[in-house]
Amino acid sequence: MTAPDSTRQADLAIVGGGAAGALVALNALRSASAALHVVLFEPASTAGQGIAYATPWPEHLLNVPAGKMTGLPDQPGDFLDFLLQADAVPGVSRAELADTFVARRHYAAYLQQRLEQAQAQSPARLQVVHEAVVALHPKASLNVLALADGSSWQARGVVLACGNSMRPLPVPGADALPPGRVVDAWDYDGVRMLAGAGDLAIIGSGLSMADSVVALAAAGHRGRIHVLSRHALLPLPHAHGGIARFDPQPLLAMPLRARLRALRAHAREAAAQGVPWQGVMDRIRPLGQALWQSLDGADQRRFLRHVVRYWDVHRHRIAESVHAQVDALERSGQLQRHRARLGTLLVQGSTLQVHAHGAAGALAPLNVGAVINATGVETRALAMRNPLLQQLLADGHARPGPHGLGLDSDVDGALRDAQGQAQPGVQVVGSLRIGTLWESLAIPELRSQAQQAAKAALTRHDPRS
Ligand SMILES: Cc1cc2nc3c(=O)[nH]c(=O)nc-3n(C[C@H](O)[C@H](O)[C@H](O)COP(=O)(O)OP(=O)(O)OC[C@H]3O[C@@H](n4cnc5c(N)ncnc54)[C@H](O)[C@@H]3O)c2cc1C
Repeated sequence: MTAPDSTRQADLAIVGGGAAGALVALNALRSASAALHVVLFEPASTAGQGIAYATPWPEHLLNVPAGKMTGLPDQPGDFLDFLLQADAVPGVSRAELADTFVARRHYAAYLQQRLEQAQAQSPARLQVVHEAVVALHPKASLNVLALADGSSWQARGVVLACGNSMRPLPVPGADALPPGRVVDAWDYDGVRMLAGAGDLAIIGSGLSMADSVVALAAAGHRGRIHVLSRHALLPLPHAHGGIARFDPQPLLAMPLRARLRALRAHAREAAAQGVPWQGVMDRIRPLGQALWQSLDGADQRRFLRHVVRYWDVHRHRIAESVHAQVDALERSGQLQRHRARLGTLLVQGSTLQVHAHGAAGALAPLNVGAVINATGVETRALAMRNPLLQQLLADGHARPGPHGLGLDSDVDGALRDAQGQAQPGVQVVGSLRIGTLWESLAIPELRSQAQQAAKAALTRHDPRS
């Protein structure tokens, strides 16, 4: 096929330059044995940050100890090596560092340095194009990508690493509120700029809420912080005390209810041996995908309806220091938690009035200066505000994953079209695979998927490799 003059060509196109896309690029550079052209499309000015690692602020810590954050499955100590070499946390031994929740900004620096090093040693060439991809037309031989600036590319292999979309605030008209009244929790500078004497409301009580609270505290916020969510469950802390000792395999054969009973029993037994419940969650952590995939469809639906909130706070934990800070603010009364559903937001002069409904009826309106949207990651494919994903779904090149979550992909990560046909030239990594895998968000999963996706793309380029 001959490309029009305005169409550029690449061997591998990676859509999204967050941690997942950077890890795919890293694997492609490291394993390429020929002069391949790898293109990474990322509208943000820096690749390797994405949402999680774009924060420059020291109070935003990793939710996973540094020792488990390597980007390379075959080099378990690679992130620790980087931290030690960069003297990122002075005066801490390697063993201590492995258990430390370091600032997230170090992870972006790590990915960027490893990409530069891999580029210097690889016969392949990495080009970063700072544009969003707005359309993809998968073809048997060459995929065609359209960019937001009107240009187009062709690539033999494509990896979709589009990551996390933020859920919009669950109130009609939120987008039309005056500027500055609603700030996304992932706008790290914007949240800090809200700090002052006035009251604020945070919608959502998960990890992004914790991020916003510690940022406001670091910036000297003195006003009240109202935290509103339907369940009002706060993320729980990590704990020292080891991993519980039991065989988790039998859980896979149990229906949901029996599993939950068994997990509670394991937690009691662990506690009797001085191991906290967190040790039970750590024991089953490597089985996250198998636990999801071994539930039948009805139990998966039950999990999503009744269990997921409780699962999330136990599974997605925060550093003890962050938890202690949020807890102290709540005890002091500065942070007030409301179990309620957001109703409307009304602008009244310089005040934003938050109306919400709890179990006992309407809450007294909260008068705040601004609202922080910490509702977290949008997992429903049809609700994701990403033009590329909307185009893929509309054109039948993709279909939503099980339960409408993410995009459907086969066991090897190939995107399935509307008929369920896998398209081996388009691989999916990261949170878009949530419906199929459930555990597909954090670095331990992303690094394996990135390795697999790069390998599949390179094999497609050269079947001998
Ligand atoms: C606040 C927060 C903290 C977290 N902390 C941790 C942690 O400590 N440890 C851990 O293991 N995990 C953590 N996670 C999980 C996190 O999702 C992963 O670690 C990882 O950052 C996900 O990377 P990603 O590249 O898949 O997604 P993202 O970070 O969302 O990056 C996706 C990128 O794709 C780009 N993009 C999207 N669509 C297009 C398009 N059409 N064209 C071009 N580019 C596009 C976006 O601009 C973005 O930069 C955290 C998540 C969040 C949200």
